Amino acid sequence: MRITYACPACDATVMHDGAEAARTLECPQCKAAVEVPADAVAWVAADGSRGGPGEGRLRLRRCLVCPSTELFARKDFPQRLGVGIVVAGFAASCVTWAWRLLVPTFAILFATALLDVILYLLMPECLTCYRCAARYGGDGVADDVGGFDLETHEKHRQQRARSRELASARPAGRPQ
Ligand SMILES: [Zn+2]
Ligand SMILES: [Zn+2]
Repeated sequence: MRITYACPACDATVMHDGAEAARTLECPQCKAAVEVPADAVAWVAADGSRGGPGEGRLRLRRCLVCPSTELFARKDFPQRLGVGIVVAGFAASCVTWAWRLLVPTFAILFATALLDVILYLLMPECLTCYRCAARYGGDGVADDVGGFDLETHEKHRQQRARSRELASARPAGRPQ
């Protein structure tokens, strides 16, 4: 399982392979270590019973970083690539349009849309943490996990905003 997260100390993007076996995750930039919760990773055998480490399928029960239990599955599709394809297709179709080539113009637009859809379908699913946006990729890690839920997302967004407010209010509000 591969984890990609923003280091809580320095905000650098950190990537680790084999995160299911890790006890701590260390940031290569600032060396800050995140302790992995002991119960975060579970293994489920083919018959649904609990397997030993490395047996059966990997299940992530909580985020290794923050450690929220609320995660959602989504396609591991780089948005910039998707937008890039559309922009390139649009630019090419502008050229053919200027040349009054009607059929190639629509063919290009149709092909770019199709390419986007095919790429999207081919991309594997990954798990994302609502709270800290850590991403988890790997074989079957996102199986049996629900997709994005706006209500849960909103709950975490408000919690983040509240804790930021509290953090900024504390030093000024309490004279010693
Ligand atoms: Zn760091
Ligand atoms: Zn998290």
